[in-house]
Amino acid sequence: MQPKQQLLSLKPYKPGKPVEEVKRELGLEKIVKLASNENPYGCSDLAKEKINEELSQLHVYPDGYSAELREKLSNQLQVKQEQIIFGNGSDEVVQILCRAYLSPETNTVMAAPTFPQYRHNAVIEGAEVKEVQLVEGNHDLDAMLQAIDQDTRIVWLCNPNNPTGNYIPESEFVSFMEKVPSDVVVVSDEAYYEYVSAADYPNTLDYLDKYPNLVILRTFSKAHGLAALRIGYGVAKSSIIQSIEPAREPFNTSRIAQAAAIGALEDDTFIRECKEKNRKGLETFYAFCDEKGLLYYPSEANFILIDVKSDADQAFDYLLRKGYIVRSGSALGFPTMIRVTIGEEEQNKEIIEHLGAYIDSIVEKVN
Ligand SMILES: *Cc1c(COP(=O)(O)O)cnc(C)c1O
Repeated sequence: MQPKQQLLSLKPYKPGKPVEEVKRELGLEKIVKLASNENPYGCSDLAKEKINEELSQLHVYPDGYSAELREKLSNQLQVKQEQIIFGNGSDEVVQILCRAYLSPETNTVMAAPTFPQYRHNAVIEGAEVKEVQLVEGNHDLDAMLQAIDQDTRIVWLCNPNNPTGNYIPESEFVSFMEKVPSDVVVVSDEAYYEYVSAADYPNTLDYLDKYPNLVILRTFSKAHGLAALRIGYGVAKSSIIQSIEPAREPFNTSRIAQAAAIGALEDDTFIRECKEKNRKGLETFYAFCDEKGLLYYPSEANFILIDVKSDADQAFDYLLRKGYIVRSGSALGFPTMIRVTIGEEEQNKEIIEHLGAYIDSIVEKVN
């Protein structure tokens, strides 16, 4: 029983080992996971309250239109309610977009390395994937424009980019949008939007009227700390959202997720504090990298990609044995770098100590 041909080239998602298992195997008391860009401070208490209130309703299907959340979010973003589509994580909105626009006769343009789900879903739809190498961690927007042809349906901008953390400034975004044919959908994936502090980061919502081919993706998984509940959304002109809606499952977001998202949207203080602590954490990592002479990309997200002057998997193993799980760059297209999620102050301090000792041991070996 063979599935569609294109599935044969894809590997199923390989989940990391369960933390409990790693603890037992390595005889560790404590394990800190800084690998999936989750919020180390959890989620807002307001989200938890909303979840509790919802527990008496678990036998009732969710509202497939997410009306209450939709109203709240549309007010906050200052867009019409029909301009929003909710997904089971923004991952699902990526999938819906690919289902809606891609087929074997089409192609899609993206950076490389970038968030792997664009490519994964495009391949399932049988579309050709045109990958344009990053330049110093940044999208090469000119080369991406060059790659667009008459069969291109979607161009993906990951802003800030995962795994590098770099961002596309407003001037470059606008000049890119001006040149992209208006019948090509441009997706601006802003999963780390809440963490960004660069003054010239584009407020893409302002451009929805001007560019009818623009789709913005955001999520409750990262700064809002609701990764377990799977809820994210897309925002675009109503005509785009209405045309892709049929590709969405009717009950794709749960009652609990919708309730939590409503609570999360009410808590600006939580987001502000997380952002501030994240920024301080990033600075701690920058100072460490500068001191040790390690290359890194300045990050607008809640993670940092660091060159470990050695095989990434080796650094990964070393840190794992010390109780820290990071993301090895070997699977991300950066074979000598690791991606570390910014943790709590104490966690950052500890992992930096271990990483420092690791780097010293590497340098000693070389000398
Ligand atoms: C984490 C992430 C997402 C997906 O998040 P969901 O949990 O599916 O909402 C999307 N894009 C990027 C770039 C991410 O890093």
